[in-house]
Amino acid sequence: MHRRALGEGSPSVIPIRKAAVNALDTIPGPNRLKETTMTVQPTENLLRGATAPGRNRTKILFILGAARTGSTLLGRLLGHVSGFFYMGELKAIWTPLFEEGVLCGCGIPFKTCPFWTEVFRRGFGGMEQVDIRMRELRFHKLRQRWLPLLLCQRLSRKYREDIHRDYSRVLSAICRGAQEVSDCRVLIDSSKYVQDCIVLNQIKDFDLHVLHLVRDSRAVANSWFRKKKRLQFTSREVFMPQISIRDSASDWLLENALSELVRPWLKHCTRIYYEDLVSDPRETLRRICSAIGEPNPTLGFLDGQTAYLDKGHTVAGNPIRFQEGPVQIKPDMEWLESLDKRQKAAVCAYTWPLMMYYGYLPRWRRPLGS
Ligand SMILES: [Zn+2]
Repeated sequence: MHRRALGEGSPSVIPIRKAAVNALDTIPGPNRLKETTMTVQPTENLLRGATAPGRNRTKILFILGAARTGSTLLGRLLGHVSGFFYMGELKAIWTPLFEEGVLCGCGIPFKTCPFWTEVFRRGFGGMEQVDIRMRELRFHKLRQRWLPLLLCQRLSRKYREDIHRDYSRVLSAICRGAQEVSDCRVLIDSSKYVQDCIVLNQIKDFDLHVLHLVRDSRAVANSWFRKKKRLQFTSREVFMPQISIRDSASDWLLENALSELVRPWLKHCTRIYYEDLVSDPRETLRRICSAIGEPNPTLGFLDGQTAYLDKGHTVAGNPIRFQEGPVQIKPDMEWLESLDKRQKAAVCAYTWPLMMYYGYLPRWRRPLGS
């Protein structure tokens, strides 16, 4: 049954709100775009709106943790809660922004997607106006090795200017534009990396809530083995990266250890488990919404283990971001069969401290809700 038929709230992943549609009618051609750019100081306008006294502050729900933990599934489910909007992996927005032919989650090239076109028109006067330096800053200066500079701004004036001033302001303007065009009060970003989380945490215009998503490291290792095509590139065939057991285990351990280490810097952080999500998605979504101060969510898009998904405007993520219609949610236990004993033991040998801490050892799976 479709969620609209169930009558629980309105869809949250709506391509664009009425106001935005009206604005789209007047989207200018190249010449008009230049005029708009000259008269608009977009970031300043958006930031003033974000911090206006007496106004409800927008929440950003950041999914933190290792790769291949089901963050796209979680983001897509949360994005269907009324008042929530899933942006995808915001850290990767620079690829579709500066590269031709990369698809938005709605199936349209990002550069012509009505949602993101309107976001960048409001925030910057158009996508062309965004400084390409942002891409360089994200990929060169937001690496794990720079975490000390991220956490302690006094250490480097140059880094502070690049990241804490320039990059943060652009990211903030994008988020504010997404909030305005979607007309939602909660934005979801599944970038997962600690460094992107810290940047958002230091932007004072939003209330950041962090979901630390954890999944059994053996299942994650198996996911890294699978050959999956990336669907967002139309001009070339690109596959999701595949890495070895050792590398995937090291990545899992490092990302989760860093996630634990930065918890003292985060005001709101809730740990959730992939296994809970796929075993009981409704209860898990309720717990998440309750934890971020959004009780009684409308979950009409969920019928037992089936989610009825609409198109969304996501940037980057697992291929599930392109799926629409009924999607079965079930635990992915393929690793039990596809990894042999030696491979399972190797993953555990690397990751056992946090596997025990999270309750995966000696059991093969955490019980629901523990
Ligand atoms: Zn789109």
